[in-house]
Amino acid sequence: MHNFNYHLAADVQDAVAKLSKSEDGKIISGGMTLLPTLKNRLSAPSDLIDLGNIDALRGVVVSKTEVTIKGMTCHADVAANADLQRVLPALANLAGIIGDPAVRHRGTIGGSVANADPAADYPAAVVGLDGVVETNQRRINGDDFFISLFETALEPNEVITAVHFKVPDAAHYMKFRHPASGYAVVGVMVARYGKKVRVAVTGAGPNVFRVPAMEAALEQNFAPEAIANVAVDADDLLGDMHCSAEYRAHMVGVYARRAVAAIVG
Ligand SMILES: Cc1cc2nc3c(=O)[nH]c(=O)nc-3n(C[C@H](O)[C@H](O)[C@H](O)COP(=O)(O)OP(=O)(O)OC[C@H]3O[C@@H](n4cnc5c(N)ncnc54)[C@H](O)[C@@H]3O)c2cc1C
Repeated sequence: MHNFNYHLAADVQDAVAKLSKSEDGKIISGGMTLLPTLKNRLSAPSDLIDLGNIDALRGVVVSKTEVTIKGMTCHADVAANADLQRVLPALANLAGIIGDPAVRHRGTIGGSVANADPAADYPAAVVGLDGVVETNQRRINGDDFFISLFETALEPNEVITAVHFKVPDAAHYMKFRHPASGYAVVGVMVARYGKKVRVAVTGAGPNVFRVPAMEAALEQNFAPEAIANVAVDADDLLGDMHCSAEYRAHMVGVYARRAVAAIVG
C-alpha cells in the first residue's frame, strides 16, 4: 500500500472541502472495494476522506411512494429495515444477498453505486426502481447515472448523499449469484408501476441496462410466457472465465421470467 493522508470528515461539506483541497483524494465509505485496490497498489490516492463519522448520512426513510436510503447506510441495515421489508421487499431482499455478512455490515449504498461494478446488485435497483441518485450538488436520474464499466455521471469531488427509489406496485429481484463472491453473474430487477414495467439487468454487460423489448411485452401481458421469445443480444455482453456472453444472454431471459413468475405467484 502507498502512503496517504487520512481525514475523518465532520460533515458532507467538510468532506467536499477536504476532497477539493487534496491533490488526488478519494472518499472512503465501507472500504470494501477501495481497501483491496489500495492493498494491491491498483490505486494510490494522496488522501482518503472518511465519511464514517457522519451520522446524518445513515438511515432508511420509507413512505408509501418513495424510499430514501442515505449514502452511508450499510447493506445489512437496508436488509433488516422492517418498513422497507413491508413496502418494498424486493429492495430489502436485494441488500440481504449482497456478498457475505462482513461485506453487508461494512459496504454502503453510496460506495456501491459510486463504484459501479458491472456485477453489483444495487445498480439493478437504481435503474429498475426508477431511482434518483442525490449528491452534494444535484439529483441524477438512475437511467442517466451509470455510464460504463466502473464509470458514472459523478463529477470529481461529488459525494453521494442518498439514493431514492420509487415504490412500485410489485417488484422482484432475481440473481444468479457467483458462488464465491456473491456478485451477480446475472441479476434482473422487474418492477411494475401501473401499466408500465421496468426490467433492469446487472452482471451481464459492462453496466446495468434495461430491456425495452421485455418491458413492452410485459406491459401487454404481465406473465413469464410473454417474454419467452424475447432474445437478448449477446454482442454487447460480458464473456469471461465464469461464462460466455451467450450464456449470460440466455440467463437474462431465465432470470427475468423467474422474477415475473415470483411476482404473479
Ligand atoms: C468479498 C466481497 C464480496 C462482494 N459481493 C458483492 C455482491 O454480491 N454484490 C454487490 O453488489 N457488491 C458486492 N461487493 C461490494 C460491496 O457491496 C461494497 O458495497 C462495495 O465494495 C462498495 O461499497 P463501500 O462502502 O465499501 O465503498 P468503498 O470501498 O469505501 O468505496 C468504493 C468507491 O466508491 C467511492 N465512494 C464511496 N462512497 C462514496 C460516496 N458516498 N460518494 C461518492 N463516492 C463514493 C470511493 O471513493 C471508491 O472509489 C462485495 C465486496 C467484497 C469485498
